[in-house]
Amino acid sequence: MAQHFDAIVIGAGGVGSAAAYYLAKAGQRVLLLEQFELNHQNGSSYGYSRVIRYTYDNPIYINLMRDAYPLWFDLQAQAGEQLYVKTGGLDFGFPDTDTFQKLKTSMDTAQLDYEHLNRAEIQKRYPQFVLKEGMEGLFQSESGLLRTSRCLLAHVRLAQQHGAEMMDQTPVVKVIPGTHGVEVHTAKEVFSCDRIVLTVGSWAKSLLAAQGIELPLKIMPCQLGFYQPNNTADFTPGTFPVFFAHMNGIYGEMPYGIPHMDSSLGVKITTFYGWETVSTPDDVDYTPSQTWTEHIRDWAREYIPGTAGSLLSTRRCLYTLTLDKDFIVDQHPDYPHVIIGAGFSGHGFKFTTLLGKMLADLAIDSHTPHDTSLFKISRFQSIAT
Ligand SMILES: Cc1cc2nc3c(=O)[nH]c(=O)nc-3n(C[C@H](O)[C@H](O)[C@H](O)COP(=O)(O)OP(=O)(O)OC[C@H]3O[C@@H](n4cnc5c(N)ncnc54)[C@H](O)[C@@H]3O)c2cc1C
Repeated sequence: MAQHFDAIVIGAGGVGSAAAYYLAKAGQRVLLLEQFELNHQNGSSYGYSRVIRYTYDNPIYINLMRDAYPLWFDLQAQAGEQLYVKTGGLDFGFPDTDTFQKLKTSMDTAQLDYEHLNRAEIQKRYPQFVLKEGMEGLFQSESGLLRTSRCLLAHVRLAQQHGAEMMDQTPVVKVIPGTHGVEVHTAKEVFSCDRIVLTVGSWAKSLLAAQGIELPLKIMPCQLGFYQPNNTADFTPGTFPVFFAHMNGIYGEMPYGIPHMDSSLGVKITTFYGWETVSTPDDVDYTPSQTWTEHIRDWAREYIPGTAGSLLSTRRCLYTLTLDKDFIVDQHPDYPHVIIGAGFSGHGFKFTTLLGKMLADLAIDSHTPHDTSLFKISRFQSIAT
C-alpha cells in the first residue's frame, strides 16, 4: 500500500521548503522529497546571501514584496535566528539608462519611499563608490540580504516541527495525477497524496513535459564571485549597501553585489543575466570561468576599487528563465490539485517564503489572496499545451 499524505512537495529548494512549511503549518500531512542532499549546491538556493528589496521595475512586484517582508519577519521570529540583514540598497547609473528610468517610474507609481541622490551625495555617504560625472542613485533603506541556506533550512526545520516528513537523496522518477489524487514514484517507493506541489527549479521543464505541459524554460548557469576587500570594515552590512549598477548591458545585464557577513567571505559580486543558456541541467558546465572573474574585477576596479582584491571563492548557480522573466505560480490546467512553482528567473529568492504560502494556498483552497496575475501558465498558451 502506498503511504498516503495530504500533500507532497517535490524539490526542497528555496520555494519547495517554504511550501512544505505553510502546508504543514495549515495542518496538512506533508512529505517533502529532494533528489540531492538537503541544501546542496547544484540548484539555485544554496549560499550565504541573496538580495532582498522592494525596488522593482514593475509595481506588482513591489506590492508582492509588501506581502513578503512581514512573512520573512514572522519566519525569523518562528526560527529564532536572524535571516534578514538590513543594509540599504543603491541603484546607480546614468539617469537616462532604460533600466534606471523604468525602476524610478515603477517606484513612484507604487509610492515606494526612496531617496534620489546625485553623485556627490552618494560619494559622501558611500565613499567606496567612484562614479562617473552625471551618474545618480536611487537609495532604498529596507533593502538587504537574506541568509539563503539558513532560510531554506529554517523552512524545513519548522515544517518538520509541524509534522512534515522530509526525505532527501530521494529523486522522484514519476508523477501520475488522477482525478482526485496523485501517485508519486521514487526509485524505491510509491507514495500517494491528495495534492502535489512541483517546485523543481531547473528540472521543471522535463518533469512538467511528462505532465503534458511544455513550458518555454531555459537554464542559465550564471557565476558569482567573492572578492577580498582592501578594508573589510568598509564593506559590512552597516557600512556598505547592496547595489545594482545600471550599465546599459555592458557587463552582462547588470552588475550587483552584497556586503560580506563575515570578513572571511569577501564582497559578493555577480551580474544579472548575460550568460549562455542551456536546455537541461545535464548540459550545465559547473566549471567557473576565469575570464568572467577578471572581467568583473576590472569593473570593480573602476567603480568600487576597494573590492577589486583577490578572488576568495567563485562558483556557478542556476537561473531558470521564463521568456518574460516573470514567475510561474499556477494550477495544472487539467489537474487543479497539481500546483506548479517554476521559472523564478534569477530573482525569486526574496519571494520564496511568499511563494511557498501562495503555492500552499492554491493547493488547499485553489485560491490565494496574493496577486498571481503575472504568473499564469496560460500566458504561454500557444506553447503550453
Ligand atoms: C547566482 C545567483 C544569484 C541570485 N541572487 C538572487 C538575489 O540576490 N535575490 C533573489 O531574490 N534571487 C536571487 N537568485 C534567484 C534565486 O536564488 C532563485 O530564484 C531561487 O533560489 C529558486 O528556488 P527554487 O526552489 O525554484 O529552485 P532550487 O533551489 O533549485 O530548488 C529546486 C529543487 O528541486 C529538486 N528537484 C528537482 N527535480 C527533482 C526530482 N525529480 N525529485 C526530487 N527533487 C527534485 C532540486 O534538486 C532542487 O533542490 C539568484 C540565483 C542565482 C543562481
